[in-house]
Amino acid sequence: MTTCIFCKIAEGQIPAEVVYEDDQVMAFRDLNPQAPLHVLVIPRRHIATINDLEPDDAELVGRMYLAAKKIAGDAGFATRGYRTVMNCNSEAGQSVYHIHLHVLAGRAMQWPPG
Ligand code: 5GP
Repeated sequence: MTTCIFCKIAEGQIPAEVVYEDDQVMAFRDLNPQAPLHVLVIPRRHIATINDLEPDDAELVGRMYLAAKKIAGDAGFATRGYRTVMNCNSEAGQSVYHIHLHVLAGRAMQWPPG
C-alpha cells in the first residue's frame, strides 16, 4: 500500500478539489494556497522527483504543461499571467516526493523567487 500522499489523492483515497483530470494527469487545488489560484498538476503514476524522469516521460511532462495552460486559461489568467514551478529536492523546497507542477496566478509575482 502506498504511503505517497499524492498517489492517495490520485487513487481517490484522500479528498482533493480536483480541477482537471485525464488518464495520465490530474490537478487539484493546493491545501495551503500561495496565490488566489494555486493548483498542483501531477502525473497519476508515482515519480518522486525530476531526477527520476526518463526520456519516455517526455510526453507525460508535456501533458502536465498542457494541463497547466488549460487550468490557467480556464481561470482567466492566460493573458494576465501565471507562474509554473516544479521544485526538485530539499534545497529547492520540495516537500512532497511525487512530482507536481505548481500553477500560481492572481497576484503579482516576485523574481527571483525566495
Ligand atoms: P512542494 O513543497 O513539494 O513543492 O509542494 C507541495 C505542495 O503540496 C505544498 O504547496 C502543499 O501545500 C501541498 N500539499 C501538501 N499536502 C497536501 C494535501 O494533502 N492536499 C493538497 N491539496 N495539497 C497538499
